[in-house]
Amino acid sequence: MKLFQSFLNRGDGPEIRRVRHELIKRSLEVLAVERLTPHMIRITLGGPELAGFISSSPDDHIKIFIPGLDGAPTRRDYTPRHYDPQNGTLLLDFVNHHGGPAAAWARAAKPGDRLEIGGPRGSQVVSGPIKQWLLIGDETALPAIGRRVEELPAQTSVTTLIAVPGAEDEQVFASASRHAAHWIHRPMEQADAAAGILAVLKKLEIPDRTFVWVGAEARVARVVRQYLLDERKVPAQWIKASGYWMKGQADASVKDVGDGR
Ligand SMILES: Cc1cc2nc3c(=O)[nH]c(=O)nc-3n(C[C@H](O)[C@H](O)[C@H](O)COP(=O)(O)OP(=O)(O)OC[C@H]3O[C@@H](n4cnc5c(N)ncnc54)[C@H](O)[C@@H]3O)c2cc1C
Repeated sequence: MKLFQSFLNRGDGPEIRRVRHELIKRSLEVLAVERLTPHMIRITLGGPELAGFISSSPDDHIKIFIPGLDGAPTRRDYTPRHYDPQNGTLLLDFVNHHGGPAAAWARAAKPGDRLEIGGPRGSQVVSGPIKQWLLIGDETALPAIGRRVEELPAQTSVTTLIAVPGAEDEQVFASASRHAAHWIHRPMEQADAAAGILAVLKKLEIPDRTFVWVGAEARVARVVRQYLLDERKVPAQWIKASGYWMKGQADASVKDVGDGR
């Protein structure tokens, strides 16, 4: 069952349509584990309970249920990177950082292991008179950005601006869109610093009707959004910015850094 609700459509601006999905918990099997890049582990999941999985937007998230560092059950947010109903597979990409149980689970995962997932509970589907896309993020947003680039219709213009630790962490997306990729290299320890992203962003043209999507460490997402509003005069309804994690805090995110501002 789906429930549709439009919550943002001002005049000729973009529309973000919230789609609710029935919340389903699934127990899946790890079919494959791939070290995609030095800092990204790709897990392929499958099994009969995957049937009927729905993910309507590239920036959807599911909950994964894993043992916490103290052994008690805990949960984290991950992006459905690619769902293939024909083959019955779901890809999740895990940033290989140290200190968290989800990343530790992915590092230790092997075929035959099981993973409980829940959701997505909802999707935010962006549409409207969008001339081009600008997708900005760090390694945690790579799955959402990669999926968006791959799912955009042919000839759509999209620019990506992504911070990763090094050249070997860059990814190539198979896409029919007109895609311009900018990569920024910085150590993971500096993932809460916006300077590298801002330096490149300052040189980029942002034409009217560019929808800007930001997913990064919460402080970076806030700084980037504020820069877009103040310096580049991008209207707030053309920006969707989320803090995908918070440096120094476990299980922390800010789904909309523009909330209340
Ligand atoms: C909508 C949404 C979608 C997301 N999709 C993905 C995804 O597809 N793939 C993905 O890898 N992440 C994704 N994330 C981010 C992920 O949920 C967080 O990074 C989560 O905190 C990781 O859990 P953990 O158990 O490994 O670490 P936690 O136990 O949550 O954190 C432990 C410590 O590690 C730090 N930390 C957390 N994440 C990182 C990081 N990436 N780099 C460096 N330090 C970190 C924390 O600040 C804390 O100090 C998403 C987040 C959101 C909100």
